[in-house]
Amino acid sequence: MRIATLEYQGARRVGRISTDGQQIELLDIEARRGALDLIEASAAGAPMPVVAGRVALADVRLLAPLPRPRRNLFCVGRNYHAHAKELRDSVFKDNAPEAWPIVFTKVPETVVGPGDVVRLPGAHISEQIDYEAELTIVIGRGGRNIARADALSHVWGYTIVNDVTARDVQMRHAQWDLGKSFDSFCPMGPWIVTADELDGRDTRVMCWVNGELRQDARTTDLIFDIPTLIETCSRGITLHPGDLIATGTAAGVGMGMKPPRWLKHGDVVRIQIDGLGVIENRFVAEGA
Ligand code: ZN
Repeated sequence: MRIATLEYQGARRVGRISTDGQQIELLDIEARRGALDLIEASAAGAPMPVVAGRVALADVRLLAPLPRPRRNLFCVGRNYHAHAKELRDSVFKDNAPEAWPIVFTKVPETVVGPGDVVRLPGAHISEQIDYEAELTIVIGRGGRNIARADALSHVWGYTIVNDVTARDVQMRHAQWDLGKSFDSFCPMGPWIVTADELDGRDTRVMCWVNGELRQDARTTDLIFDIPTLIETCSRGITLHPGDLIATGTAAGVGMGMKPPRWLKHGDVVRIQIDGLGVIENRFVAEGA
């Protein structure tokens, strides 16, 4: 199933994308928190809500599937072999491969929809805005101290996130959270594909800037795989339905180029993950 959160005739709804991708079947369920209520109910064993109507996909505005996650997103740093290499060759010269995943967070208020504008904060705040295309895990059944072997049974589905980053701010502070948490710095969508329809362990992640292919990788290149990330994030911490773990980005970020190439006003970043879909966001200077 592809589960979307959308706006239709001024109201927020949750729906299931039809097999042909042309329609959305609106579900009879509370939608104030987007797909979160559905995920919680489903993780608790409730049956799928009934379909309360059908509308053309073209007639709705897609929102982020979780427009305001219940808490910070877990995010993983430097988690593709090829990306770790590009960073060793540029900004993190001294770093040996990690024994444990790098985990940081983005605040929930960063989230915007799959076609929404991302606001560049102005040169006095940051001049180094970068994109990061990422497959993102949506947790279903919660749990604490989840073992690797059981981890995939806790995955409700997957979505796409652009982990937009202010590199100068990220590097200025020992913790990455500030440079990752600017308003609108987490485009998400276009929907959640449930885990029975997509194996996140082997899919293709691609990212274009103004039509130029920048990132192209398979998730088989992950340093720490999906079960390991769930095991790591749940060590001593209870994961809840709807929690999000962004699995890290591939090689080809602007920071890794020589010279680096930062996003500027009017740039369009398009991310596609096979089996999932596409998000496309325009970057606009604040006040423009
Ligand atoms: Zn990232």
